[in-house]
Amino acid sequence: PVVTRFAPSPTGYLHIGGARTALFSWLYARGRGGKFLLRIEDTDRARYTPEATDAILQGMAWLGLDHDGDVVSQFENAARHAEVALELLAAGKAYKCFATQEEIASFRDAAKAEGRSTLYHSPWRDADPATHPDAPYVVRIKAPQSGETIIRDRVQGDVKIGNDQLDDMVLLRSDGSPVYMLAVVVDDHDMGVTHVIRGDDHLNNAARQMMIYNAMGWDVPVWAHIPLIHGPDGKKLSKRHGALGAQEYQAMGYPAAGMRNYLARLGWSHGDDEFFTDAQAKEWFDLDGIRKSPAQFDLKKLESICGQHIAVADDAALRKEIEAYLSAAGRPALTSQQGDGLERAMYCLKDRAKTFPELLDKAQFILASRPIVPDEKAAKNLDNVSRGILIELTPQLQNVTWDRETLEDALNGFAAAHDTKFGKLAGPLRSALAGRAATPSVFDMLLVLGRDESLARLQDAAN
Ligand code: GLU
Repeated sequence: PVVTRFAPSPTGYLHIGGARTALFSWLYARGRGGKFLLRIEDTDRARYTPEATDAILQGMAWLGLDHDGDVVSQFENAARHAEVALELLAAGKAYKCFATQEEIASFRDAAKAEGRSTLYHSPWRDADPATHPDAPYVVRIKAPQSGETIIRDRVQGDVKIGNDQLDDMVLLRSDGSPVYMLAVVVDDHDMGVTHVIRGDDHLNNAARQMMIYNAMGWDVPVWAHIPLIHGPDGKKLSKRHGALGAQEYQAMGYPAAGMRNYLARLGWSHGDDEFFTDAQAKEWFDLDGIRKSPAQFDLKKLESICGQHIAVADDAALRKEIEAYLSAAGRPALTSQQGDGLERAMYCLKDRAKTFPELLDKAQFILASRPIVPDEKAAKNLDNVSRGILIELTPQLQNVTWDRETLEDALNGFAAAHDTKFGKLAGPLRSALAGRAATPSVFDMLLVLGRDESLARLQDAAN
């Protein structure tokens, strides 16, 4: 069975790159009946705060990336990590190194002066334990001294590293605390992780992690190191390209389904498919479709995909997500009446909105209540002539059946009787019903608002 994991360092928010790594791991597991685990790499206690973990959990919750089992804290596994180092020590695959900082520094200086590799070679690797002093030591792994290490990466292909590039990496510091590299390997092994999908900035670590797998005789997981995300200018994505936190996109009003779809396409492809559902993504996602070159973040594309997801979303679900957006963006919540109205109007709003703010802007007619105060453009449509039209029209709508066909007949008939076209009536009607010049169609507004509210608004504007 497939087991993947997302192993973020808690940096204060879930950034776009991390969100994509999590999404890939989630899709891979979910499409294969596997498990998707979450481990917080919180060993750097100086930088760790519980709020940072919460921010990651919230970002994942927004994106719907549900994980199996409890959230694992890497820091809490420290004793187990140390145990593995001691096991390697007992098996002769690691050793105690008593070299002092000064000795290591002078080794490096000498190596530099002589133009040799500055990778440290400890004299303690082959020392007789009987000669060990009673002094602080670190535990180092015995790195292979010849040959090469091959990382069989599913994205990068076979990556070969000469073993002369590997030093006897420290596993335990002199205070007995395990190093990060050991923690990752032990946790991945203990959690039963079969596939590690992560940023290619970890590719170099993989060679060093492999030493630990080999020394322990553990199976190496399938590795897939994915290229970073770049901005539209081809440079590594950074703050100057705009928002970096996944949740900032929630606060800007992008739907989670659109974000998932867009992030899945960022560095992975399935033929020419740009728009797809979660079910399709789970079915289609594989490691072969991941590109080797960096993906470029493109806001226009994100918006176009988001628009398509809004258009096909279920109205009630959309309402819920918009309510969550309002709260994330710090905007006032909807009353239940506004929410109900929004849901009824959704069918005529969701076709052309790429974001929730755009959709809410079109929903103004249903969110506003009487008296409707026209904006500047709308006010221009309500001159004396227009008001005269509304005064005459309103009573004629009093008794018609309130359905699309009848309303169309009534308004077209009214226009014809006045030797004009319906288009001439539309401006004043939009202004009266919504207080805006740009709105959904007049008929959609009449139907969503209902007879009483519509006529009341027409009356208000006529007076
Ligand atoms: N904690 C690392 C990071 O946030 C990921 C380590 C890994 O996936 O192995 O970059």
